[in-house]
Amino acid sequence: MAPVNLKAATKVYCSLLFNHINPSPCTLCGQSESGALCVDCLHLLARLTVPLCRCGLPHGNEQPVEADSVPPLCGRCIRQPPPFSASQAPLQYTFPIDALITRYKHRADLTVERALAPLLAETPLPWADTDAVCPLPVHWRRRWRRGFDQGDHLARLMGQYWQRPVLPALVRQRATASQQGLSRRQRQRNLHQAFHCQHPVAGLRLILVDDVMTTGSSARAAAQCLLDHGAEDVRVWTLARTLPPPLA
Ligand SMILES: [Zn+2]
Ligand SMILES: [Zn+2]
Repeated sequence: MAPVNLKAATKVYCSLLFNHINPSPCTLCGQSESGALCVDCLHLLARLTVPLCRCGLPHGNEQPVEADSVPPLCGRCIRQPPPFSASQAPLQYTFPIDALITRYKHRADLTVERALAPLLAETPLPWADTDAVCPLPVHWRRRWRRGFDQGDHLARLMGQYWQRPVLPALVRQRATASQQGLSRRQRQRNLHQAFHCQHPVAGLRLILVDDVMTTGSSARAAAQCLLDHGAEDVRVWTLARTLPPPLA
């Protein structure tokens, strides 16, 4: 059990109270008293609608993928297939969701969560055979500093909407060290050792939940750790996905 940082926890609760009494205006239209994002602007968020690879990136094939069929893989995944069998994100990681997520995780601004609630509540369970939802944890030192773990919060929220139990199976043993200058094998070992599985997961079909997927390295390492401990299948759901810049 990680120690509690009273100073950070007090900051989170004070910020919660402050935001409740004095909500900030909508990030996009500036309307007052609407919290982080008003209902009208919620519809302006960039949805991810293009056909996607297993890693959540567009695979370059513009043909829509039939439901229940295996999506084609992008170049990177052909070379190095991810251990998770699918991933999904409702939003592109771009303005204004990037600004909102920064507020959410660095300032523990839960008005963001409330503003996104209508969108999250209507996000269907992506894989019906899921047994449990598993947060992708941050390192306890980061949680200590912020007093908040956005992956844990989101997983609990989505577990409620999807009516699936939340299983905090993973612990981040250490902050992921810099990957620069390491061989592929060293990189994999470096990431692999970043997680430890503290609950039995054998035979379970799990959804790993996090706020954003960027390179997907953490999701790969976390999924591999769960599979090494006997999970039957791991899929990844994030609120947003960083897309590469379009080719010039
Ligand atoms: Zn607005
Ligand atoms: Zn891919």
